[in-house]
Order: sequence, then structure tokens, then C-alpha cells
Amino acid sequence: MSDTMLRLDGLTKAYNTGKPGEVTVLRGASLSVAKGEVVALVAPSGAGKSTLLHIAGLLDTPDAGVVEIGGQAMAGLGDKARTGARRRDIGFIYQFHHLLPEFSALENIVLPQLANGVARSTAEARAMDLLARVGIAPRANHRPAALSGGEQQRVAFCRALANGPRLLLADEPTGNLDPGTSDQVFAALMDLVRATGLSALIATHNLDLAARMDRVVRLDKGRVVTPA
Ligand code: ADP
Repeated sequence: MSDTMLRLDGLTKAYNTGKPGEVTVLRGASLSVAKGEVVALVAPSGAGKSTLLHIAGLLDTPDAGVVEIGGQAMAGLGDKARTGARRRDIGFIYQFHHLLPEFSALENIVLPQLANGVARSTAEARAMDLLARVGIAPRANHRPAALSGGEQQRVAFCRALANGPRLLLADEPTGNLDPGTSDQVFAALMDLVRATGLSALIATHNLDLAARMDRVVRLDKGRVVTPA
């Protein structure tokens, strides 16, 4: 059995902006993330980090190249199978929490499990366990508006892990937080990832955070390179 969780090979992607000329973002980007490995993807804003993460997360398709998750090529899958793989295998975290404002922290973690066919009692127990792991169990019944930015983001981490994905993709997960909070919230995320043995690809432009991951890669001119 392969020990690769995510394999991206030769990805290309251009956006047709409607104006003369296309914006070519990826020009043959290749990257593998091993099982249990946490990889930092660093690059300045506009370099294509979100584009690469969306393709890896099956939210977008490349113009060319291969996306394999757990050894399975995604290109041949129909919409239904892709949606299934995304729901089952992938957790996504954005810079902004995107929690549902009218639901409690707990419900925000329960709902994706119910959508996946999990019984409510099981879903609630799992949600409480996840909230406890990131240190905010006492906040379970608060709505997002009653939580601090760091707490909101911790809930978003729990939601991303609610259905037990194999791969976590995160796009500047602490980018909206002040530096002190960002540090603590990032540490909570890393604890959660390590405890669950997840593979993760985490985009950041914070080099201190990147240095705390297993490996750092950079996006440069549309390709993935290893910094010297
Ligand atoms: P990053 O996440 O590193 O900031 P992005 O992947 O968001 O980079 O964007 C890379 C480039 O692609 C940018 O120049 C951006 O303007 C452009 N881009 C992203 N999405 C689209 C889109 N849907 N249409 C046109 N251009 C886009």
C-alpha cells in the first residue's frame, strides 16, 4: 500500500479573465503529501496557493495534471463520486471561519455529520470531543457572534474534522488573527492534526508557523519548489 495521501502531478491552471490574455497560475505544479505528514505551502499573495488547494480539495479542476487522493485518481470520477470523496476524505479550513451564524458552535460541528448520515447522539459526542481537544468545550452552546476570533476559528477546525477526513487542506487558517492569538490557535490546530494522524497541506505566508510543520514547499512561478 502506498504511503502517499495526496499526489499532485503536473498541474496547470489558467483563468480566462475575458480580457486579452489569460492569467496562468499553475505551470506544472507537482507535490506529494505522505500519510501523517504536515506540509507548509508558502508563497506571497497572488502566487496561486488558493488555486492549488481548491484543485487538491476537488473544489476546482485543473486544465491538465493528476490529482490522486489515497492512491486513487480523481480525474475519472463523476460529480457524485467527487462530492462523496470531498465529503468523506477532505477537511477544508479557510482564513475566515464561515460558520453558520444562527447555529451554536456544537451545531456547526454536528450538521455536517448529520448530512453524512451519522446519528445525532454520535455526532454530538464527537463534536463535544473535538471542542474539548481545542480547549473550548465550555463554549459549545454559543453562537459564532458570541465567540472571539480565535474561538471561531477553533470551531471551524473542529467542523473540518467532523467527518474524520484523511486529508486536511487549510488556506491561511490563522491569517485573520492577531499574532499572539494566531500562535495559540495554530498550536491547537497542530495538536488536533497530530492526535488524529491526519495528512495536511497548510498554506501560510507566516514563516514561523511554516517552520513548525514537517516540511516547507514554496509556490514559485506556478511550480512547487523546495526552498534551499
Ligand atoms: P493566493 O492564494 O496565493 O493569494 P490565488 O490562487 O488566489 O493566489 O490567485 C492566483 C492568481 O489567480 C491571482 O493573480 C488571482 O487574481 C488569479 N485568480 C484567482 N482566481 C481567479 C478567477 N476565478 N478568475 C480570474 N483570476 C483568478
